[in-house]
Amino acid sequence: MPKIKNIREQFPYLNKNKKTIYFDNGATTLKPETVIKAESDYLTYIAANPHSVDYESAFEANEVLLKTRKLVKEFINADNEKEVIFTSGATESLNQVAFGIEDLISENDEILITNLEHSSELLPWVIVAKKKKAIIKEIPLNNDLSIDVDKLMKMINKKTKVVTFSTVSNTIGAWNDSQAIIKAIRKKNPKVIVAVDAAQSIGHIKTDVKNWDVDFLSFSAHKMYGPFGVGVLYGKEEYLEQLTPFKYGGGMSASINLKELSYEPEPIPARLEAGTPNISGIYAFAKAIEFINDLGIDKIHEYETGLKEYAKRAILTNELEKEFDFYNLENDSPIILFNAKGLNPQDIATYLANDYDIDVRSGAHCARLTDEVIKTKITIRASLAVYNTTKEIDTLVEALKNSDHFLDHLFK
Ligand code: PMP
Repeated sequence: MPKIKNIREQFPYLNKNKKTIYFDNGATTLKPETVIKAESDYLTYIAANPHSVDYESAFEANEVLLKTRKLVKEFINADNEKEVIFTSGATESLNQVAFGIEDLISENDEILITNLEHSSELLPWVIVAKKKKAIIKEIPLNNDLSIDVDKLMKMINKKTKVVTFSTVSNTIGAWNDSQAIIKAIRKKNPKVIVAVDAAQSIGHIKTDVKNWDVDFLSFSAHKMYGPFGVGVLYGKEEYLEQLTPFKYGGGMSASINLKELSYEPEPIPARLEAGTPNISGIYAFAKAIEFINDLGIDKIHEYETGLKEYAKRAILTNELEKEFDFYNLENDSPIILFNAKGLNPQDIATYLANDYDIDVRSGAHCARLTDEVIKTKITIRASLAVYNTTKEIDTLVEALKNSDHFLDHLFK
């Protein structure tokens, strides 16, 4: 991996805000110059809608779609480009899966999910289950809050229709080994549909849909150094073929019959991509994938794991546990989830921002059932990415050490 200084230089936000420590990567990562420039370059120089085909720029627009689709396919190790559907983000992808397979779900079918999931993953299943009179069951977790595979196996039966979970949750961040979990599920009931939310892992750990043998996988570009407004739904071809579209419109139909109230669909991926895509974003997304590929996703993972380990040691050495509750120091995801004992998380986040220029996020992080696991809904999340440094972690630790400041700050 190049020197961290060279990586940081690629991020205009870091160059402009020299003192800012950006620890809100779980919400969105910063974007490198190449990504920012690409989005603007597309709008400036290519400009065309890829639904047009008759002139040079329109041809180029189509090339952009093809190129990025191929890059995504290779990045996640899918079988072919048709299995890559562009969406507006993980939320749309997750909704497309749940509502797209609802016709396959019958009364009393079981949907298994963990209660650490993000609302974008939980809610579509809640709505679909209610509509179809299906049953949602919570997947039991291990002590480290990853999925307890043995207990999950005991829950799987003939009624199990869907098992869905995130590779890494956006709060606790325990790693669920998709490959091992899915292998076990297939052994017990090969008909179960497995849908994985990879929003928090996609920019941090290698994704391999073929080896994982996953049926659906969802993620957003903006959490992997890419632009806002672009996401991916991966699906095995046989499943995408069966999926009912979540939206209807231009580009997905070859003909429409008003008398029969029917239409002739285009083949995938077009059938599931109605409307003009975020083509300038898709152009920039290619640059984000190239950024990750140039560094190497395994190297990124190794570096970030090192940062988490460093943070853990610094927290323990400085005995911060006396004043703070830490919820996930044991796992290697680049998320540090904590609370100050007896203090309001938002006050701590504001103190970190005001006094130390450290950007973290406080709140429920859209994971509304987390309190059923760690007995608190509201936490502070410092989430790291490849441009963060041990020096920045030292500053966080120093800020937390000065915990008496918190009260001064509150009553100032
Ligand atoms: N799943 C998880 C685990 C997430 O962290 C997020 C974003 N916080 C989402 C889904 C939804 O992603 P988006 O808001 O980009 O659609």
